[in-house]
Amino acid sequence: MHHILLATRNRHKTGELAALLGADFQVEDLTAHPDFPEVDETGVTFLENATLKALAASRYFGGDLLVLADDSGLEVDALGGAPGVRSARFAGPGARDGDNTALLLARLENRTERAARFRCAIAIAQGGALAASFEGACEGCILDAPKGGEGFGYDPVFVPDGYTQTFAELPAEEKNRISHRARATQQALAWLRALP
Ligand code: IMP
Repeated sequence: MHHILLATRNRHKTGELAALLGADFQVEDLTAHPDFPEVDETGVTFLENATLKALAASRYFGGDLLVLADDSGLEVDALGGAPGVRSARFAGPGARDGDNTALLLARLENRTERAARFRCAIAIAQGGALAASFEGACEGCILDAPKGGEGFGYDPVFVPDGYTQTFAELPAEEKNRISHRARATQQALAWLRALP
């Protein structure tokens, strides 16, 4: 069984990624490694930031450990693609999910164009080098008020195309079937399964 380090401290992401990777992989995240320093997400794309995080952890922990990092966020057409790579800190450093969502809704007030998408990039590093990368997206639209109590981040205001419920109302298994993270992870999974 392959052991994979998920380069995140976001327990929601770990939960989703662990469920998506399934029982064939033994995963742990950075919560047991408080010594590992925060990585500055200075990239201008999700893929650059995922790569920065995967490489930093791979170099820090060394050896042949497989490190998987995800970088993700929301792109809103009416805001020229914002919050984009700044999704986690849209309302400022240390912003909480509710603050980010409230700011997003304020910026979209009276705007009829509501199209948006979540994007996810996954980078896998080993031995201090990038081994593979994958991307996934999930198209949808932004409501004008939050709905639902599941999930995290912008889930309560995002309705995926073809659905009437937000990501925060859909069962986790359904989100995990269609999400940006699911689409990127399915490709990563195929790559991981082909490893010797
Ligand atoms: P990251 O940890 O730098 O990848 O930041 C991701 C941020 O994008 C999160 O803090 C959320 O605000 C947002 N985000 C990413 N994926 C999701 C999702 O599946 N649902 C809701 N928000 C998400």
